[in-house]
Amino acid sequence: MSERTPVAWSVSHWCDDPYSNGAWSVVLPGGSPADRIQIGQPIDDRFILAGEATHGTQAAMTHGAWETGVAAAKWAITDGARSVIVVGAGFAGLGAARTLHDAGLDVIVLEARERIGGRANTVDVGDVRADMGAAWLQQFPRNGLARRAEQLGLQLHRTTFDTPLTAAPDGPAGDIAAALERLRSLVDISDRRSLASILLPHVDALPSADRRTAQFAIDLDLILESGVRLEQMSAWAFIEPGVGADDHFLPNGYVDLLTDAAQGLDIRLGTAVKRISWNADGVTVDGQRADRCICTIPIAVLDSVKLQPGLPAEHTAALARLTTGRVEKVALRFSTRWWPVAPGGYLRWYDTPPAWGEWLDLTDGVGAPVVAGLIADAAIDRHHLGRTDDEIAHAAAAAFAQWADAARRTTP
Ligand SMILES: Cc1cc2nc3c(=O)[nH]c(=O)nc-3n(C[C@H](O)[C@H](O)[C@H](O)COP(=O)(O)OP(=O)(O)OC[C@H]3O[C@@H](n4cnc5c(N)ncnc54)[C@H](O)[C@@H]3O)c2cc1C
Repeated sequence: MSERTPVAWSVSHWCDDPYSNGAWSVVLPGGSPADRIQIGQPIDDRFILAGEATHGTQAAMTHGAWETGVAAAKWAITDGARSVIVVGAGFAGLGAARTLHDAGLDVIVLEARERIGGRANTVDVGDVRADMGAAWLQQFPRNGLARRAEQLGLQLHRTTFDTPLTAAPDGPAGDIAAALERLRSLVDISDRRSLASILLPHVDALPSADRRTAQFAIDLDLILESGVRLEQMSAWAFIEPGVGADDHFLPNGYVDLLTDAAQGLDIRLGTAVKRISWNADGVTVDGQRADRCICTIPIAVLDSVKLQPGLPAEHTAALARLTTGRVEKVALRFSTRWWPVAPGGYLRWYDTPPAWGEWLDLTDGVGAPVVAGLIADAAIDRHHLGRTDDEIAHAAAAAFAQWADAARRTTP
């Protein structure tokens, strides 16, 4: 067997999973982070939505999700609740339940899947662990989960996202950072049009070499970061935080943080909630009664739960200005590290049209040759949907090998 053939792999399926239906929330043209804050407002003093999509400044990240859960719990406590039902055991649900439990309230967590963690899921890839959803502790210096990881003495490994080892099939990719900066300079945050309307006329008018580099920046810095096409992207795509220079990943997986957060909580796994109703007397969640309900299920699957009397018009309007990006991941474990090594561990493959464009070399943290690749939006239709995991993993490994060969050709 060639050293380029993975010996073990795992493939994510967030986009056709009935309990996520995508990767993370994104602000649509015409929307803003104010919509995130709106959907997290309490309803009738009984019911509240929490979760990554409801964080005004740290959406689409685990620590943001956790903070929304903690804030919702504080609302219930301040409001005088004695019993709370939390729906969903991702970071938002665990943040809520942990806070309520520690304050002495009765709390149960109803979780649809047979595991906790939601969009954080650590799996075995052969003899090593890999995270198939969230992997990095982003905004590391001001990330509450990062501080908890440090307290617990969990192993952490820094990735340097600002110095990727890039390659394209047809020669050096060009100055992507400068191209992105030029695109950013064209966008005014108050502009309610889509980034397609704002950026594409400019890109089309560029000389061909600059157009190629600008397209690469769009493919990997905008589309892969958000998981939606440019037509669905607002100016906020340039503002809302993504991966950054200080981010660290957990070589043994997010699972240790999740296990710590869940300690001592009453979590009912395999319990998909179908109906939540509330009135002046309290809430009823599939027949169970409590004073309040904190619902943390992803906005992309909110329709699967019947809410009675339903969301107020302000919430519904705000939800309509958000969508959910599509991103999938593959983790490949090789027998040797046969590819070029980038000191920061960040690798980018500018294929046209885009395929597995972003690669993270986890080897130095994990202590075994492992890489994780990411794919987004239309590339998922081309390279992921309708294929078996084995087919996906081997095709991703072939794309990674193309990157490695091109990187060797073009990097001094
Ligand atoms: C591929 C990928 C990579 C990512 N990378 C990072 C990263 O590196 N760093 C980072 O900070 N973030 C990352 N994220 C985002 C991060 O995973 C999420 O923002 C965060 O985990 C969301 O937490 P949450 O609690 O809001 O939602 P979830 O984790 O989705 O939790 C919601 C829970 O509700 C449950 N649920 C759904 N429907 C029902 C129902 N009807 N009844 C009961 N339970 C239900 C779900 O099973 C789930 O457990 C990534 C996400 C993906 C998909």
